Amino acid sequence: MLSKNQIYEAVICDYTTEGQGIAKIEGCAVFIPNAIVGEKCLVRIEKAQKTWAAGKITQILERSPHRQNRPCPVAKLCGGCDFHHMDYAEEARLKAERVRCCLNRIGGEDLESLPILEAPDWHSYRNKAQYPVSTEKGKAYAGFFRRGTHSVVENQRCLILPEETDAVKDAVIDYVNQYGVPVYDELSHTGLLRHIYVRRGAVSRQILVCLAVNGRKLPHVPELVGRLQKIPGFLTLVLSVNTKKGNAVLGDEFITLYGPGYIEDTLCGLNFRLSPRSFYQVNHHQAQRLYEAAIRQAEITKADTVLDLYCGVGTITLAMASAAGQVIGVEVIPQAVEDAKDNARRNGIENAEFFCGDAGQAALELEKQGRNMDVAVVDPPRKGLNADCIEALARMHPRRIVYVSCDPATLARDVKLLKERGYRLKNALAADLFPRCAHVESIVTLVAE
Ligand code: SAH
Repeated sequence: MLSKNQIYEAVICDYTTEGQGIAKIEGCAVFIPNAIVGEKCLVRIEKAQKTWAAGKITQILERSPHRQNRPCPVAKLCGGCDFHHMDYAEEARLKAERVRCCLNRIGGEDLESLPILEAPDWHSYRNKAQYPVSTEKGKAYAGFFRRGTHSVVENQRCLILPEETDAVKDAVIDYVNQYGVPVYDELSHTGLLRHIYVRRGAVSRQILVCLAVNGRKLPHVPELVGRLQKIPGFLTLVLSVNTKKGNAVLGDEFITLYGPGYIEDTLCGLNFRLSPRSFYQVNHHQAQRLYEAAIRQAEITKADTVLDLYCGVGTITLAMASAAGQVIGVEVIPQAVEDAKDNARRNGIENAEFFCGDAGQAALELEKQGRNMDVAVVDPPRKGLNADCIEALARMHPRRIVYVSCDPATLARDVKLLKERGYRLKNALAADLFPRCAHVESIVTLVAE
């Protein structure tokens, strides 16, 4: 076992899924933040267990050519981004590698390389921010959680967000400080304002502000709206009632205080209505490229019925509608399903149906009704497909399954399960939807044998 506080020499050989460096020291895997593969470093052990340890770089002996100065002054503390210490080429390489390794190791594939849709222009790409609010010496401030904690790191200007989004944060904080609006305290479960949520349409430039509060009312709403109206694009203010303890940002009840309660945006040539609770990819440019890849890989014809499981507000479903005979979307969040139906109407799409419910159960139900699915698209959350989904897909046996995933490990697990049920992997592509952050998206196609 390695000794705590002792300094060892190590070479970084790989990355964790969170983007930390990994070194093998005396047979033990040591996780080291802010490290780059190939670097030789002196590492101080901060935590030592039998099979693994955590350490920190005290000195870099051989610097990677991919190392760079961090453009963000709080990058080291803030838990938002993971890769400001490396150039984009290394980030893209490691993300493609992660997807490839998962598909090989867990999915039983033998891929020698895997392409990635790169996103080298990472400035201001995020169309959504959720700032936790905190206080320091009686003054409110907002930022992002410090890595692995719930203490808030103040960030004047977050480089992956548009300026308008940060301007909303500043306007809300200004209002909170002027009117003494109580800030929520997690430990005592008292206070009002928990999170400032901002969504801005990349094309429409419309801004939705949603304040998550431990209560049902906000004081001085006209004064807050007055401040927000100075920000170009501000359209609507919504309150999200969240009186529960825990990490969830938004509650289940929404009260519109100003404007329509949603914004619109254009994606893949279609107009979408977006409510606060609805999922919408945060990187517009890359999402569009990802969906275009999904449409290409699906190889749909006018005779096809397409089933889109985990469809959100119907982005992929509706983007595929014009190529298909019929499209069916399934989504569990009622507000998102309402948005999806409205999105079909507002785009004049008549061959789309949406169902609210669990993807697996809905798919089993459709299968029982004898509805034939030619192509399936699945885009589940990180935990991947549930057993019902796999079962339903196996029984329906669509010609193609296009799987969009935000977790390569569960993707690879599901690929293996689907291969055992008569499919083979046709295409695999990583897509960088979160440049500077460790998450990686991927898309694969499985074809029936
Ligand atoms: N395809 C959409 C949304 C993908 S995100 C897009 O690209 O915009 C995953 C979606 O799955 C979310 O909208 C989430 O609400 C939904 N979801 C989560 N669990 C689900 C379940 N068990 N059944 C159906 N949908 C679910």
